[in-house]
Amino acid sequence: MTDQSPTFPDYFEKVAGSASFDRDGAFKFIGVRAFVMSAATIADLMDDFYLVLGQRFVDARLYMGGRRAGVRTAAALVAAQKLDPRDKPNIERLFADFYAALGWAKLDFHLDYANKTGHVIAQNSFLAQGALAKFTAQGKATSVANVTAPFARCVMLGGYIAGLTSNLLESDVDMRETECLTLEYPGCRFEVTPERLYTVKRET
Ligand SMILES: [Zn+2]
Repeated sequence: MTDQSPTFPDYFEKVAGSASFDRDGAFKFIGVRAFVMSAATIADLMDDFYLVLGQRFVDARLYMGGRRAGVRTAAALVAAQKLDPRDKPNIERLFADFYAALGWAKLDFHLDYANKTGHVIAQNSFLAQGALAKFTAQGKATSVANVTAPFARCVMLGGYIAGLTSNLLESDVDMRETECLTLEYPGCRFEVTPERLYTVKRET
């Protein structure tokens, strides 16, 4: 949701203003120890994972990890801001501002609350822009038998967005990335899917 209506507080400045620089190297963001790394370096690390472990395994691991973190963080953010869980526009705004301030992406929620479905558009995904910024000696990122063609790079973000969307819809949903910057779309699109993605037994 990109509505800039003053009805909903702007959380961006509050979050961005929490960055705490430290000469001893203990940089913090929202009170959490953090660090800065270029998106291209992340893409470089991701390429190594894809090359060694294969796309299917890496995507599954990143999606599940992202989803668990997204579920926990969504609940913590709503509680920390003392928001009414029924106040969906305000919570959408909180999530959008928070992840924009973190530099992950600008999230635009298009959810159908009655039918517990919909999609999310992510502008400026750090994973996709990192992959696009990175060039190897061969002129492109990951190049190995099972991932030679360009592919959607934002599965970790997808898992995270699934966690946030599950909080909003009050229903356990999964989301699949159907369009990605790396596939020459203008942004990354994540669709609620009825199919369970990468679920493992005993996962909570
Ligand atoms: Zn993407």
